[in-house]
Amino acid sequence: MTHAFVEPIFWVVDSVLISIGPFLTVLVVHLSSFSVFIAYWILYPFYKHQNEWLAYGLALLGNWILINFVFNYYMGFSTSPGHPPKYGLHVDSDDVCKKCLTPKPPRTHHCSICNHCVLKMDHHCPWMNHCVGHWNHRYFYLFMVYTLLGCIFLLCLGSRAAYTVMYADPSEFDFYYENVNDIVAGVSLGSSVWTDQYFFKTSRPLKNFPFSYYLETQQFRYKSLMFLSFILFVISISVLVLTLWHGKLISGGETSVEFLKNKYEKIKFRKEGKTFKNVFDFGWRTNWRVFLGLHSGRTFWRHVLLPSCHKPLDNGITWTKPEDIETVLNGKLMGCAHYY
Ligand SMILES: [Zn+2]
Ligand SMILES: [Zn+2]
Repeated sequence: MTHAFVEPIFWVVDSVLISIGPFLTVLVVHLSSFSVFIAYWILYPFYKHQNEWLAYGLALLGNWILINFVFNYYMGFSTSPGHPPKYGLHVDSDDVCKKCLTPKPPRTHHCSICNHCVLKMDHHCPWMNHCVGHWNHRYFYLFMVYTLLGCIFLLCLGSRAAYTVMYADPSEFDFYYENVNDIVAGVSLGSSVWTDQYFFKTSRPLKNFPFSYYLETQQFRYKSLMFLSFILFVISISVLVLTLWHGKLISGGETSVEFLKNKYEKIKFRKEGKTFKNVFDFGWRTNWRVFLGLHSGRTFWRHVLLPSCHKPLDNGITWTKPEDIETVLNGKLMGCAHYY
């Protein structure tokens, strides 16, 4: 009955996602490359002209976000979410997949796009063009977090630069005229002078500037910045909603699949006068520690803020029971935990 309720929804969503998956993967690579290009081509010279050390600091911050973004996307993309073994699986479960004809361990769900059972399946991700499950769930979530940080970072820097171009006092750019000879000589096309008001105003002495390619280049820079800002704004709103939504699920110890199943179970239990309890919910703090794999001496600073390949707590087939979770996380229980 639960499956009858959930699967039609997934079928509709999957049918759409299957056709756009490869396209979206290529789009992620192109959009992120374009963003990095704009950052170095337009934003870095702009801030470097204002304050050299500020520019170095921003470059450091931007590259930290970029490294984490690329790492988590690559790892999420290249790490299999995990599948139940075809033979020799001994799990305490009556649930058998009708398509794979193999037992389904707890939290496993069949993905109709991958046509495979996936361990602790969260969803089929079109942006990675495969499933998000037990072994790559953390990479997927951190990829969203660093995408969001990257969008906010570039939007803040970009809006400051665009504002200066559009509304700032033109006399603020008098430095430009001192550099005209350099530009004519082709020594410094752009970098320190790109903010010139001639994007819009041509009544100043340079309207007869002989090199029209210079103005065209500047206008092209401005248009590129506006185009990127628009794209980043749309992406950041969508990713913010998704990050908050998945954050809520992780806080409750649920996957996206389990959220739908549990929602149905809650209604069923309520009708019977009982209260539904999610056995994988250990309280939000512990749920986050389990999700991020922060145990055995691992820290937030080293294993979340910096790229890390560490594995999740359980093996995706058996799951630590609530009575053991604290002692397992604190590394005090060796080899005698209780599992589902
Ligand atoms: Zn299956
Ligand atoms: Zn899938």
